[in-house]
Amino acid sequence: MSSLHETETPTLSFSDMGLAAPLLKAINDAGYEIPTPIQQEMIPHMLAGKDVVGQAQTGTGKTAAFALPLLTRLQPDKTRSPQILVLAPTRELAIQVAEAFETYGKHMRDLRVLPIFGGQDYTIQLKQLQRGVQVVVGTPGRVMDHIRRGTLKTETIHSLILDEADEMLKMGFLEDVKWILEQLPGRKQTALFSATMPKTIRDIAQKYLSNPVEVTIRSKTVSAQTVNQRCLITNGLAAKLNTLSRILEAETFDGMLIFVRTKIQTVELAEQLAALGYSVAPLNGDIQQSQRLRTVEQLKSKKIDILVATDVAARGLDVERISHVINYDIPFDAEAYIHRIGRTGRAGRSGEAILFINGRERSMLKSIEQTTRQKIQMADLPSTTAINKKRIDNFKEKITTALKSDTSIYQTLVNEYLQENTVKPEQLAAALALLAQGSRPLLLEEQKVPETSVREQRYSAGPRPKARTGAGSRSSNIQLPPEEGMERFRIELGSEQGIKPANIVGAIANEADINSRHIGRISIYDSYSTVDLPVGMPDDILHVLQKSRVGSKTMRIQRIGAGIETPQPPARRQKPERERYNAGSTAKASTAKARKKPVYSAPVI
Ligand code: AMP
Repeated sequence: MSSLHETETPTLSFSDMGLAAPLLKAINDAGYEIPTPIQQEMIPHMLAGKDVVGQAQTGTGKTAAFALPLLTRLQPDKTRSPQILVLAPTRELAIQVAEAFETYGKHMRDLRVLPIFGGQDYTIQLKQLQRGVQVVVGTPGRVMDHIRRGTLKTETIHSLILDEADEMLKMGFLEDVKWILEQLPGRKQTALFSATMPKTIRDIAQKYLSNPVEVTIRSKTVSAQTVNQRCLITNGLAAKLNTLSRILEAETFDGMLIFVRTKIQTVELAEQLAALGYSVAPLNGDIQQSQRLRTVEQLKSKKIDILVATDVAARGLDVERISHVINYDIPFDAEAYIHRIGRTGRAGRSGEAILFINGRERSMLKSIEQTTRQKIQMADLPSTTAINKKRIDNFKEKITTALKSDTSIYQTLVNEYLQENTVKPEQLAAALALLAQGSRPLLLEEQKVPETSVREQRYSAGPRPKARTGAGSRSSNIQLPPEEGMERFRIELGSEQGIKPANIVGAIANEADINSRHIGRISIYDSYSTVDLPVGMPDDILHVLQKSRVGSKTMRIQRIGAGIETPQPPARRQKPERERYNAGSTAKASTAKARKKPVYSAPVI
């Protein structure tokens, strides 16, 4: 690979890059201020038509790093032929990437983007393909099928993106990807993105890319920070706001700086916090310099306590009273993280930094830990008990403060009331407390769904544990029954057909849209395999899976018990190649998760 680029601070703005005008408009609508480091590096190379290998995790802005230049290079006269193909490991990512293309291309005329993935009826995809699309984003299995059937024409595809290549490798799609790469005669530009660069991925880059530029965003390691750093897992927007509001209640803070990604979010979040009663202001690059200075002054003089800012707007911010930095959105790289947390702990004071991450952002967390050479402690969501204790303490404190003021007028009134009515003084005091509290309940109710401790969440979405009965273990001939909440299925493909657990996970996750964390024990035998899946798979999903393929072979999956025997290990040879693909969760944990989002959602027809 020809060169290695290291980035520190971005120097180009989006408008300096030579991107098409409709895209610049969409970027502005999205509220992006500056290109992220990976965009800074990637976009010029991609615009120049070079092949690129990007080592970048989710959360770095990598989608825009390829979507923006590719859309700029789209041939406007060929609106009906596929020109760009993106391969993604999962249906979720395929949809997400397709949506990103649509968002960035919303001001372009006649842009058609189509996600194609397993589990969706072919007829919808066929209709769209026949109508004509320029951008196709798909999972490898379904893309292969369409190429084979001749429904996805490959001659006009000039740009190919392999997104999350290491995930595709883990899910057993390597051969499919290679096959697809070989079917694209018109391919002029290829870019490969991967969070890690194992040898197999490098080999692919070497073999299928032409003299690619390698882009890695590296940060210089920095010496230990004095700031106390914590991390919480928050999946979903509602969970983030809930976590933040609990932190605001449970932590004792002086000034707080909350980092988000976009200008729009600074305003939205500031409004949400103001509605909760906090004195807060947004800080972003669109706000005039004089107003920004005024806002910072207000923070210094305690007129406001919280700023919601973008990285650009908070650059160099130096306010001693900032006791807390909240990374509401994870930064785009470790360097930005270091800058952010450096806004607290100033002038010899202590500082607290709290980072919110979702399951997909773990690799960014790792990269931050490597750069800072510090482990960031996982913290628990502040409990209802802790918050209520704080609320009671605050309430009592308010009474103490009020008692210091002149209350004579109220004392007269209270005495009068006591004489006129037969109530005890404590009853009267309680009624006044109720009035003072208003409509907002003093105490937080215990959540109905038990608050999953962050550690539990981390465990269930975290790295998979080793097989309980791994190859070579003494108990490997014993077939354990499915765990509670799971049932066993038989697949008519085994090690003789070259099947690996990852192939089964990939096929089931994509074709039936079952999150891989719900896929239980997988056992591979010579001529068949078994897999444990949550009880209650609807027939229509089973039907889809029965026709699904692993590589070029049909799975012919069947529920064990539905006319077929529970497979007993053959007497002579039981291939002990077993792997447990339950992402660290027990069946109970997966069913608890399943309560939030159904394990089985109806296939889209
Ligand atoms: P990705 O790494 O492509 O999954 O992007 C992560 C998130 O960053 C997405 O929500 C994007 O909308 C957002 N994003 C991408 N580029 C920028 C940018 N330059 N400024 C602010 N947000 C961005």
